[in-house]
Parts: sequence; structure tokens; C-alpha cells
Amino acid sequence: MQLTVDLRSDTVTKPTPGMLEAMWSAKVGDDVFGEDESVNALEQKTAAIFGMEAGLFCPSGTMTNQIAIKCFTQPLDELIADQTAHVYRYEGGGIAFNSGVSTRLLNGYRGIITAEMIEPEINAENIHYPHTSLVVLENTVNKGGGSCYTLQDIKPIAELCKAKGLKLHLDGARIFNALTHTGDKAADYGEYFNGISVCLSKGLGTPVGSVLLADAETIKYARRIRKVLGGGWRQAGFLAAAGIYALDHHVERLKVDHAHARILNDELSNLHWVSHVLPVETNIVLFDTVEPAEQVLQKLASNGIKALPTDKYRIRFVLHLDVHPEQIEHVIKVLRCF
Ligand SMILES: *Cc1c(COP(=O)(O)O)cnc(C)c1O
Repeated sequence: MQLTVDLRSDTVTKPTPGMLEAMWSAKVGDDVFGEDESVNALEQKTAAIFGMEAGLFCPSGTMTNQIAIKCFTQPLDELIADQTAHVYRYEGGGIAFNSGVSTRLLNGYRGIITAEMIEPEINAENIHYPHTSLVVLENTVNKGGGSCYTLQDIKPIAELCKAKGLKLHLDGARIFNALTHTGDKAADYGEYFNGISVCLSKGLGTPVGSVLLADAETIKYARRIRKVLGGGWRQAGFLAAAGIYALDHHVERLKVDHAHARILNDELSNLHWVSHVLPVETNIVLFDTVEPAEQVLQKLASNGIKALPTDKYRIRFVLHLDVHPEQIEHVIKVLRCF
């Protein structure tokens, strides 16, 4: 039987037996009444990990980001983000739709922006200009190929935001990948950000869910916004239990995904049909192909390997919990045959 390897995204993982067991035995209640023990425990646990006051468990990272933007802005405001930002590109225009806010896009290096780039883009108080009220960072940067901010990078941005009265939100869909790479401590993040969105269903491997972290007052309002969006859920504890399990068991192993990404990076760098491999920092590998990506992807697919194009001549591999060493060997064998 042919091996199949799904490198399209780190969202494709299935719960492990241990995770299913934790879900099966979860203590649950009605979360809209605040009575789901597992949800409450997940929210508190995640907040504590990042040195934040409170958490709100939501069905998706898009929802946690959109709720955060709603909490930190007023209609007619403007937020600042890199032009690759997930909140801008991949959330369906939600910034304008949900919050009535415009977006000022910066041209960062692999999605990484700096205080020097942000400062001149903050609008002066003037009736012509939208009021700048929020900066959104992404760590790691998805479209940047898993590029990372260190806390050293973040500090001057946080200081600028504080000085200018702006809120700072982190789209941390892959924050644990960033922490694995940089060695920064999660607990130190709380002092720099007003909001942090932590995804549990990417590298951490749960079926569903993200947690929004902020101060207690903000989370109280965020709970109201989640309700309006139809995200007031009931016995969500079965899913929260998967999240608690993932935080306990799947963070440490992210380094395996990063090692796999580096192996593929080294391999791709030596292939005649690959023109360029972007620097690999975490679990994402972006590379450019000599022939159109679609043709390469077809050949990969006929060998059981699924991946996605991110451009006409660019392919993305994403490593995750369900990619094992024998699958990496299979991928390498196939890549060498082209
Ligand atoms: C996946 C992702 C999200 C959230 O995605 P959902 O599918 O809504 O959970 C947010 N930001 C980034 C950078 C992502 O990669």
C-alpha cells in the first residue's frame, strides 16, 4: 500500500488515542452559563501560561482574532498590520465587516514588521484621518513561511504602542512554534500584549479551537461579542479537554516538526528542479519550482503526497503531528525521482 503524506496544513491532524481518551472522560456543563469545568480550566490554564488574566475559548482562530479587533477598536478606527497578515488576507474581510475598521498595511520582511516601520503610519489626530488604535502582529507568520518574532523584536513595538495609546494584539496561531524556535518564555508575553490569540488545532493537534487571552474586563466584553457571532457554545468541554491535553503533551514535540522541516529544506536545496528554498525557522517550508507549481503538485499527488501552492511557482510544505519519520523518508525518495 502506498504511503500518504498530507503536508497541506498543520490543521489536518486527527486526535491521538490519548487525546480522545481525555475528551471522552471530560467533565462538562453548559458553557453559556459558565458551568463547563473543562472550558473554565482550559481558559485559566492558557491565560496562566502566557501571563495574562483571563481567556475565552472559541471555535476558531478567525473568531478569536475578529473578537480581539472588535474589543480593541471603535468603528472608523484603523489598525496597522503587515500586508501578509492573516487577519487581513484570510479572514474574509472581517475587519471591515465586524468592526467597521480600515487597515493600514506595511511591507515587512517575511511578514515581520518593526517599530520604525509602524511609527510613521500612525495617523495624527485630524478629522481627515481614521483614528489609529491597534497594531496586530502574527507569530509565527504563516505567509512568511513560519518566520518568527523574538521578544526582543516585540519589545520596541509594545513600547511604541504604549507611548501612542495603541492596543497590541498577537495572532498566535503558531505561537508555540515561535516559542520553540526562539526559546522565549510564554509567561513573558503577557506584559507586551493586550490580546493574544492561541490556536490549539494547528501544531498542537486538537480537532477544534482557539483561546483569546486578555485582561478580565476585555474578556468579559469579548464573551458578549462571541455570543453575538453565534459562538456561545454549550458542552464545549469535550473540545476544551482536547486543548488541555494538547498543552500538556504536544508542545514539547513541536521540535520534531521543526527538525522534519529542516530535513526537507536540506533535501530541497539540492534538487535541480527547485530554484529557491526560503529560510526555514519552524514547521513551514516554502520553495520555488522551475516548472509551474501545479505540475509538481500533480506528480506529488500521484505519489500520495498532498501539498498546496502559495504562488504560481511556489509550494508550501507544513509539518505536523501526523507526519512521522517514515513519511519524511517517503517524501525524500519521491522528491529525488523528479
Ligand atoms: C490558521 C490561522 C488562523 C486561524 O484560523 P482558523 O482556521 O480560523 O482557526 C489565524 N491566523 C493564522 C496566522 C493562521 O495560520
